[in-house]
Amino acid sequence: MVPHDTPLISTIVGALVLAFLLGALANRLKLPPLVGYLIAGIFVGPHTPGFVADESLARELSEIGVILLMFGVGLHFSLKDLVSVRAIAVPGAIAQIGGATLLGLGLATLLGWTLGGGLLFGLALSVASTVVLIKALQERHMLQSERGRIAVGWLIVEDLAMVLALVLVPALATAAGSSGGHSADPIVNALESALPFELGLPGILALTVVKIGLFVGVMLVVGRRLIPLALHYTAHTGSRELFRLAVLAIALGVAAGAAYLFGVSLALGAFFAGMILSESELSHRAAEETLPLRDAFAVLFFVSVGMLFDPTILFRDPLPILATVLIIVIGKSVLAFGIVRLFRMPVGTAIIVAVSLAQVGEFSFILAELGVSLGILPEAGRDFILAGAIVSIILNPLAFWAAEHLLARDAPAAKPEATSQPDSSVTQATGAAPGDMPRPTDHTIVVGYGRVGSVIAGRFLRLGLPLVVIEDGEEPANAARKAGIYLVEGNAVDPDILQRAGIASARNLHVAIPNSFEAGQVIEQARRANGALVIAVRAHSEEEADYLKGLGADHVIMGEREIALGMLARFEGEAD
Ligand code: AMP
Repeated sequence: MVPHDTPLISTIVGALVLAFLLGALANRLKLPPLVGYLIAGIFVGPHTPGFVADESLARELSEIGVILLMFGVGLHFSLKDLVSVRAIAVPGAIAQIGGATLLGLGLATLLGWTLGGGLLFGLALSVASTVVLIKALQERHMLQSERGRIAVGWLIVEDLAMVLALVLVPALATAAGSSGGHSADPIVNALESALPFELGLPGILALTVVKIGLFVGVMLVVGRRLIPLALHYTAHTGSRELFRLAVLAIALGVAAGAAYLFGVSLALGAFFAGMILSESELSHRAAEETLPLRDAFAVLFFVSVGMLFDPTILFRDPLPILATVLIIVIGKSVLAFGIVRLFRMPVGTAIIVAVSLAQVGEFSFILAELGVSLGILPEAGRDFILAGAIVSIILNPLAFWAAEHLLARDAPAAKPEATSQPDSSVTQATGAAPGDMPRPTDHTIVVGYGRVGSVIAGRFLRLGLPLVVIEDGEEPANAARKAGIYLVEGNAVDPDILQRAGIASARNLHVAIPNSFEAGQVIEQARRANGALVIAVRAHSEEEADYLKGLGADHVIMGEREIALGMLARFEGEAD
């Protein structure tokens, strides 16, 4: 079979292979891997010679990435969280959309476009990309922090506004007579042809609000009972495979149902499905099950964005593109910063929210596409939006980097304001624990603060011995921070993280993580940095134990054998 007969396979394979190569290269150059994914997209896109992947397939695949990402966000987000940030997220999002739309309209007027085109252009520049925002917050362990919740809540409101816009734009276009076409919404079309009168703008608006309300209602009443029930049932079958399947079926099924039946976006549907599940104790397992697929499809998202980009436009129309980028990166963040500060939130929160939203992505493409197809937006508008999106997505990690350094530098000065919450961004950027404790020396490093590590760390803490914990997961990291431990957040496999934990001056290292391959890598790095270190590590089999000893571990504790000995000790205690 020739590869051209299998566009789906060649698109997935081409995109993933090239994204992997360029992502690894970007990582080597100390750039975020997503820059590599975007460039991979440009390579497999139609604007560069060589292999061309199928654009519409790539876009559809990337939608699955959006669904799984939003589902994951929902899993960590409760209704309570959403309600708790509404006071700032709702006015913030609305003001930002308004401001950005005006800026876009201004630029469009300068370019001589129509009012409708200008409004649509501005609207497209006003919404941030879900994927970019979530990825950025996730990488920095900020999703659960207050600033993270505000940014996500803000995004949800923007998402809702876009759902309205996607329905209203065609209606407006029809009303303005710029196209004789139908609405993009099948339900509106069906109603229009069934009713003896035109729905008109207020009718369409009301219908959309009713549909969103209906969806939320159905989710809260039916979904809330049915979804956890289905998941508990499959969990009890004992089949891991079925459970995994159930999670995927729920995430994708609700998202698609929301889109097809209620006209709500796929992302929003998935977010709700996740949020409903977040109340179940199985939510952690559900989140874990979707991780690998989510990551793979999120990569496809960036590749598909890159594919849309024609690099020559940077030379053909540099000035309007520069203006577009300035609106996205500077205009929107200044607006967001001002709004958050107006609510008397700390400067740190304002900066992080501003930076989170200083980019545009998927919704902007959809709006631009719609605008062009309805004849409202000139084709150049779509190209500017695309270029602005790519440039702002590439600039976004740099903006985060700058923001974190700014915050880290000003951390002592900003401290009185920042004490209201654990400030993970500062911890992250400087490696300093909250409260600016000095890093201990001659200390013990515990890697992992789970079932094993937290017990070890607890003992050291009680005895008042110098201690540093390295933890990768957001929730255990928060727990360690709360316990007042000097914490370094990140993957201990990373030599930078070990260095921040003061590996060279440490006395003991306890590697309390379950994955022995990662544990081995940690030991290898640690040995190299400190020959005198006493290393204890966790293992699950004789093979693992031998492997870890070979890498320089002094004490290998085989978990299962200790469990057996513990059980026997109880038994012998009874028998005596
Ligand atoms: P447990 O198996 O319950 O002791 O949990 C292990 C803990 O180690 C979890 O909290 C993980 O988040 C954490 N962990 C696993 N791998 C790493 C790693 N490479 N670096 C830092 N923390 C890790």
